[in-house]
Amino acid sequence: MSERSRHGDPRGTGAAHAPQGVSRGSSGPGGSARDANARGIQDRGERVFTGLPVSPGVAIGPAHVRDTGDLKVVEYCVTDDQVEAEVARFDTAVRKARKQLGKVRAKAESLHGSAAEELGYLLDAHLQMLRSQSLIGGVERRIRDRQVNAESAVTAEIARIAHDFSEMDDPYLKARAEEFREVGARIVRNLMDAPFTTFDALESNSIVIAEEVTPADTALMDPQRIAGFATVLGGAEGHTAIMARSLGLPAVLGVADLLGQVLPGEQIIVDGSRGRVIVNPTEARLSRYRERLAEMKREARQLAKLRDLPAVTRDHHRITLQANIELPREGEQAVAAGAEGVGLLRTEFLYMNRDDLPGEDEQYQAIRQILETMQGRPVTVRTLDVGGEKLAWSLGDHLGDSVNPALGLRAIRLSLKQRDLLDTQLAAVLRAARHGPVRILLPMVSSTYEMREARRALHEVARDLAARGEPVPDPLPPLGAMIEVPGAALSADALAAVSDFFAIGTNDLTMYTLAIDRGEERVAHLYNPLHPAVLRLIQFAVEAALRARIPISVCGEMAGDPRYTPLFLGLGVSDLSMSSAALPRVKQRIRQLEMRAASHRAMAIMDQHDTGRIAALLDDFAG
Ligand code: PEP
Ligand code: MG
Repeated sequence: MSERSRHGDPRGTGAAHAPQGVSRGSSGPGGSARDANARGIQDRGERVFTGLPVSPGVAIGPAHVRDTGDLKVVEYCVTDDQVEAEVARFDTAVRKARKQLGKVRAKAESLHGSAAEELGYLLDAHLQMLRSQSLIGGVERRIRDRQVNAESAVTAEIARIAHDFSEMDDPYLKARAEEFREVGARIVRNLMDAPFTTFDALESNSIVIAEEVTPADTALMDPQRIAGFATVLGGAEGHTAIMARSLGLPAVLGVADLLGQVLPGEQIIVDGSRGRVIVNPTEARLSRYRERLAEMKREARQLAKLRDLPAVTRDHHRITLQANIELPREGEQAVAAGAEGVGLLRTEFLYMNRDDLPGEDEQYQAIRQILETMQGRPVTVRTLDVGGEKLAWSLGDHLGDSVNPALGLRAIRLSLKQRDLLDTQLAAVLRAARHGPVRILLPMVSSTYEMREARRALHEVARDLAARGEPVPDPLPPLGAMIEVPGAALSADALAAVSDFFAIGTNDLTMYTLAIDRGEERVAHLYNPLHPAVLRLIQFAVEAALRARIPISVCGEMAGDPRYTPLFLGLGVSDLSMSSAALPRVKQRIRQLEMRAASHRAMAIMDQHDTGRIAALLDDFAG
């Protein structure tokens, strides 16, 4: 065994070398293709499923059922002093597996009839295996006695158990061998902290069907190859949904009864506008959807004509429309959509799908590339916003386990605690500033203290850079606060005194104000940004910024929905940032409305207490 495999590779997987994912090629969410047949899906006629319509558009193509199967596991030795850490790593992976299955189990309860029963039974069996002493004790013993990594101990122990079951005469017990393999694959996958698969080898136009697609998975999806996706888990405002929208990938999430219901290669329609997933569509339905696709393309061509026209209301109020960017490759899309800058560059992409942290130079190059693509248009770089639903693998050790991650050590809190994270990003932005106008935006600010500390860090980093002989912009780039925590909105006056600009994050602001997890499909129906409490906080922050004469923009998902445009304009917001795909429609809406009428309507809305009435006032506003 090589020195590297003995001591290196902290994830213990050879993950960097091992091909990930699809070697069995037939498993589906909640079970394998064989399970699907066993559960009585012999009739391969049309089946229609409904879920959350999170990313509009229509995709038609063959199903790629994301494999839950074999990952290539490399065995290596661990030293005496690493053994207990290896056992702990295994225990964490098992806990994570229980959590995952618990979520799917809860989702399955919303199904009806025999499907719920069958699936519930299967998932319970998996959960039971995760508690079985024969598996847990067996793996722990292997790690301790043989001093091997957890992945290989799991693989070997599962092979032993599966073999014992497959030797049995009772067909019921025999079938458990496969179930143990699935549970083992889940643990190994968790240990590898890796996406299930890269999507490189997919047939073009594939539709990904999965139990869950994480934001990091979405970052790996190439829209040239993947036409859309549908999952069992996930909410409409989570990051996966946001990334699907910005990549223009039609997506339906939270489709409870999709579990184990699709076989690889079956034809699928994902209707991301209506929240439907149609498996094996009839010819009649296919042709209706093909017509809709053609119609959508015609509409997109019409909207593209707005590209070079200004976002100006009928009574001549000029609005700035900027783009949100999740991945560097979206820069060109932003320019093509007519964005006047990047109002929100989410830097999390730099930390995804990797085991190490991105250095200053890498970050500088990435920001520089975006600035160059934007050709002199301003770019607002947000410092790292991970934690909660936005986990980056490379930060695992920094994040640790949090009882309540959404309220834990995340975003600016993490950056200030782990100053090297913040300093690296600040240095990269300051260096990139010579390639175009930049602003620095801090996520999840909740106090003036955080703004002051971050500004102090900015000055220190600038001093260090100057000492290194790097050119440092003078004045330093503006430093702004995201307004996405209710406490920040309520103390917006105080924050405005220490901030150069505000950007309202309506996604988190809604989540924290209403205590509704934005990524949790079971409470998705309660997530309502039109709740008067959310609107009042937005109004409060806007008025504080206007009084302090600092720029304010809205960059949450509400900004990209033309339905809300008159409300924001009426409240005094003249800068909106959204996914490039959403920009033309918002511009169209702005060009159709009058600011005076929008202001009156916004006032009327702010007098309301009832979300239904607020929605009605927005929906019947003609402009
Ligand atoms: C928001 O919370 O509204 C926001 C823009 O930030 P993110 O979606 O990245 O949390
Ligand atoms: Mg946010």
